[in-house]
Amino acid sequence: MTNIAPYVEVVGPSSDANTTIVVKAPRLFDGTGKFYENGASIWIEGSEIKAIYGTESPAPLRGAQVLEFEDGCILPGLMDSHVHLIYGTADRMSGPRSYDDVNDLDSDALMLLRTVRNGYRHALRSGVTTMRDAGSRNRITFDLKEGISAGLYRGFPTLHACGRSITITGGHFHFCHEEADGEEECRKAVRTLVKEGADFIKIMGSGGGTYVTDNRRPSFDVDELKMIVNETHRHGKFCTVHCIATQSIENALDAGVDCIEHYEFVEMDYKRRLDPRIGERMIEQNVFLSPTIQTGYRGLEKMRKLAEERSLTQAEQEQLTFLEWKQEGQVYITGKLYEMGATKFLMGTDAIGEFGDYGIGLKLMVDGGLSNEAALFAATRNTAEALNIMDKAGTLEVGKDADITVVDGNPMKEIEAVQRVTQVIKAGYPLPMEGLGLFPHNPGAAVVTRRPLPKNPQVIKNP
Ligand SMILES: [Zn+2]
Repeated sequence: MTNIAPYVEVVGPSSDANTTIVVKAPRLFDGTGKFYENGASIWIEGSEIKAIYGTESPAPLRGAQVLEFEDGCILPGLMDSHVHLIYGTADRMSGPRSYDDVNDLDSDALMLLRTVRNGYRHALRSGVTTMRDAGSRNRITFDLKEGISAGLYRGFPTLHACGRSITITGGHFHFCHEEADGEEECRKAVRTLVKEGADFIKIMGSGGGTYVTDNRRPSFDVDELKMIVNETHRHGKFCTVHCIATQSIENALDAGVDCIEHYEFVEMDYKRRLDPRIGERMIEQNVFLSPTIQTGYRGLEKMRKLAEERSLTQAEQEQLTFLEWKQEGQVYITGKLYEMGATKFLMGTDAIGEFGDYGIGLKLMVDGGLSNEAALFAATRNTAEALNIMDKAGTLEVGKDADITVVDGNPMKEIEAVQRVTQVIKAGYPLPMEGLGLFPHNPGAAVVTRRPLPKNPQVIKNP
C-alpha cells in the first residue's frame, strides 16, 4: 500500500502566529479506550491539543491548516521504551560493525552525531515521538539532551535518558563506564547519574550480548539491587532492569524494581522456561514489562531468506537456530504473561541494528496473543506511565502536548497498519515526512583517517 499524502487546505489567510491545525481521518485511537471509526478530527493550537471531535466536528476556523488523511488512523505519538541511540550501526552480533566493534572504533563525537540521525529516522519512519534511551557511553545522551534543550532541532522526539547503565565490573555494557560493585558503589553510581541529569536509572541485572558476559547468570546480588532501587526512588525516579537470566528476574522483583526489560527466562542449560511463579509475581508486583520482542527479528528474516537461496554454512545454521530460539521464546513468554493477566507491557525496539523498525514489535506482540488494543496501549499510554509523563503525553486528550502519529489503515483490525506511518506531529509541528531521505540507514562508520596522538609529546625549550 502506498502512503497517502495529506490533503492540505489552508482556509483563508492566517490571522495570528498560532495557526490552528486540524487533523482529520476516518479513525482515531485516543489511548484512553475510545476508538472513533466513523470520522474524527483533532484540533491543535500551538503545541497543545485544543479539541477532539467525532462525526460532529465543526467546520475549521478561518486561517486553520487542515491535514486530511483519506484512509488514516490518528494515534497518540508512538513511544519506544528501549533504544540505544549511539548505535543503529548494523544488525550483527559479531564481526565488522557489530556493537563490540563499534565500541572499539567509534569516538563519542561520532556516536553523538549518530544519535541525531537515529532519533530523526525513528520519528520519520516509525512515528516515534518519545524515546527512552536505556544505556549509552559516557555523557553522550546527556549531551544530546543538552542539544535538544538548546533548541537546535525541531520535531525531535522527547528523550528520556539514563545516561550510562549501571553494571558490575566487566558486566553487560561495561563500556558505558558506570561499573559498580558493592552497595556503596551502587549508591554512588545512582547519585552521580542523577547529578548529571539522568531521567531514570537502568541496571544491567544479568549478562547480555556484550562479549564474555554470561546471560544465564545474574550480575548484581539482591542487596546491591535494593540499594540502587531505594536510592533511585529517594530521588523520585523510576528504575528498570535488564534481565535475561531467570534468576535475575527474581532478584529484580525481590529488590522492588519498577520495570523489567527483556525477561527472557534463560536458565543455566540455555533453555527458556517461563517460570509461572515468577510470572505471577511480575503481575502481582505491578511492574512494567518491556519485552523488546523484536530484537533479532531482522537478522532472522535475513538468515531465512539466505537459507532459501543456498545451503547455509554451519556457523550460519547455528545463527539461524539461535535467532529462532530467541524469537520464539520472546513471543511465547509475552503471550503467556498476557494470558495470565499481565497488562503493563511496553513497546521497546532495543534498536541497536536499525532505527525505524518499530511496528514489527507490535505485530509480534499480536502474534503472541495480545489484542490489537493491548499492543497499541503498549505503544502509547503504558510507556507514558512508565516514563511518568502521562500529564503531557501517551493519550490524545485536551491540554496535552500535540504528539500525534497518523498511520494508513485500521490498526485495530490489522496491526501492520502501524508500519505505514503517513504523518508525525511533534508538539504541534507537522514533520516534513520527505525528510527521511536525509537520514539514511547504514553502518555509520567513519572513513576518514584518524591520526593517532604522539606517544611521548614534549616541548623542548632552549635547545
Ligand atoms: Zn538494550
